[in-house]
Amino acid sequence: MNLPDGLLSVGDGLHLWAPQYAGTWGFANCLLVVSGGQAALVDTPYDRVMTEALIAAARPVLPGGAGAVRTIVNTHVNGDHTFGNGCFPGAEIIATKASAEHLCREPSPQQMHFLTHGTPADQPLGWYAREHFGRYSYEGVEAVPPTVTFSGRYELRVGDVEAELIEVGPAHSAGDLVVHLPAQGVVVAGDVLFAGDHPVHWDGPIARVAAACETILGLEAEVVIPGHGGVMSREDVQCYVTYLLELEALIRARHAAGVPADEAAADILAGGFHEELGLPERVVILTAVEYRHLDGETGEADLVGLAARAADWAFRHREPGRRRRGRGGGGGGRRPGPSG
Ligand SMILES: [Zn+2]
Repeated sequence: MNLPDGLLSVGDGLHLWAPQYAGTWGFANCLLVVSGGQAALVDTPYDRVMTEALIAAARPVLPGGAGAVRTIVNTHVNGDHTFGNGCFPGAEIIATKASAEHLCREPSPQQMHFLTHGTPADQPLGWYAREHFGRYSYEGVEAVPPTVTFSGRYELRVGDVEAELIEVGPAHSAGDLVVHLPAQGVVVAGDVLFAGDHPVHWDGPIARVAAACETILGLEAEVVIPGHGGVMSREDVQCYVTYLLELEALIRARHAAGVPADEAAADILAGGFHEELGLPERVVILTAVEYRHLDGETGEADLVGLAARAADWAFRHREPGRRRRGRGGGGGGRRPGPSG
């Protein structure tokens, strides 16, 4: 892994850890807020190795190291934004109440370890898990839940920096929040927004994600930090909303015509839908989630089950030249996607 050895300044007291890998899963952006001798971190990396790399990269602005971070904000509860929580012992961890209530459906570090080591490597899910999650070390990771929860809005002060946490879920997940830093003109969007790859949204429907984006646009920030990928402008966010609405229309037309979900997704992808973006198989998940809503299904989303359906598509569309029983691994040759 080629992780950043420094943080990017995105505003007074705001330091972004941006691994910026496109074409794969798990490299989430984290924002460190440092002011007046206090520090807070918005989202934590996927494993201990990455979290330690973040702490090392932060040393110039965080001389006290991990111990100086007294507050963590989790934009949502997916592991790639929360599994590093345990590296900041004693820190208060803030998330929405809805996030805390849906923790149980998140794959645990132990389940992720099993998926990447215990499943058959020549079957779609096992192959896909190794390809995209095999680089992380889930052993010894303890999922640390939030200690402070809220619904609606929550004011947070870090030294002289004022932040407002705004609940926008359910959208990407059951309990998404975005962080607005009004004086700096910055919004941290979590996984409501992706840059460079097709997004994944577990909860939906797509209209809820688009509405969350409209909330972000309404904050009139100049700098918008997506959950994954490069920093976005307001225009990028607008393009993303257009993407969502295009996809929603394509899915709804196929649903109305009685096409089964996975067939609908395969058809949309065969039509070349946003070919410039990485991880096309995520459209299988987006379609399945949209169908659930259209069919009026309630109950908890099955994240691993949804990922397995995407893995089936990806397995059938592996790059030619790869051996059928080949070892998953490098992910070489994937193009870096453009922003927005
Ligand atoms: Zn994520």
